[in-house]
Amino acid sequence: MKINELVRKNIAQMQPYSSARDEFKDFEESMIFLDANENPFENGVNRYPDPQQKSVKKVLSKIKKISEDQILLGNGSDEILDLLFRAFCEPNQDNVITLPPTYGMYSVLANLNAVENREVILTPDFEPNVIDILNKVDENTKIIFLCSPNNPTGNSFSDESIVTLLKNFKGLVLLDEAYIDFSEKESWLAEISDYPNLVISQTFSKAFGMAGLRLGILYASPAIISILNKIKPPYNINVLTQKTALEQLEKKTTIDDKINLLKEEKAKLLKQLLEVDFVEKVYPTDANFVLIKVDDANKRYLQLLEKGIVVRNRTSQVLCTNCLRITIGTPEENTQLITILKSL
Ligand SMILES: *Cc1c(COP(=O)(O)O)cnc(C)c1O
Repeated sequence: MKINELVRKNIAQMQPYSSARDEFKDFEESMIFLDANENPFENGVNRYPDPQQKSVKKVLSKIKKISEDQILLGNGSDEILDLLFRAFCEPNQDNVITLPPTYGMYSVLANLNAVENREVILTPDFEPNVIDILNKVDENTKIIFLCSPNNPTGNSFSDESIVTLLKNFKGLVLLDEAYIDFSEKESWLAEISDYPNLVISQTFSKAFGMAGLRLGILYASPAIISILNKIKPPYNINVLTQKTALEQLEKKTTIDDKINLLKEEKAKLLKQLLEVDFVEKVYPTDANFVLIKVDDANKRYLQLLEKGIVVRNRTSQVLCTNCLRITIGTPEENTQLITILKSL
């Protein structure tokens, strides 16, 4: 794969916006900054944020054992995925492949960017249909979106499927690992150096417990990261988000404790769900949610709502007829859920 042949021509040729903070980087607290037309009176947010979020990346690179020039941060994963479309997919010409049932943003972003979305439905046990996927690829296919663990099904894709796609597809394989920290499987981060077409997204929104911050992460080769850096909004991660992310990451043991608690809660909940008489199937899950098949998803969804519990009704999604997706809550919330389910 040659990254320079994959990127859109206008992106390859464009000059990025050079912000004041880009032009002058050797920051020292004692200096007087009169270069960015900021208001000089300190209030915690009067200065522009670091466009490269160096402090956050430094901590993240230690936690995830990957070099800082292989990290890009975005305003949620949404921004990161959008940047991939904008960098690599020519509107009204190129296409991407997604595997329903999966995360809805891929198709929304494809539509938004006027990029054809070729859908290849997962197999009945929610694995990628590798042969069909490769048959759908043509010279304008730029990205294959794999979500593993997959939302809303909860399962991780087999290593074999992922490797086959990485080896046989000349475009980018985006592996969405939003739920990887709940998974029994290893992340594919260590594989990035072996597969130059592998790009991995993760997020602060789920296991890290910071959905309100809007902070998404992309890991890829330095070549891909530098293309995306060129087109990202210069100050895309605000001062408060960078500051809070750092503070929270310092409490990494607390984050890990909560992940472990959620995993224990999940194991308990999976067993208890099977005891509910209208639950027909509890799908295996590697994430912090579980997909269940019930007798009548619309009816059960409304009954739960009446009792003050909101779950996600996925019945209209392909392969998900009569399925509800339930997030693992606190121990108290899960107990209430089970009590109410059993009482319906
Ligand atoms: C929740 C989720 C995300 C996270 O999105 P953010 O914009 O980072 O909050 C990404 N991918 C999948 C599949 C998700 O379910």
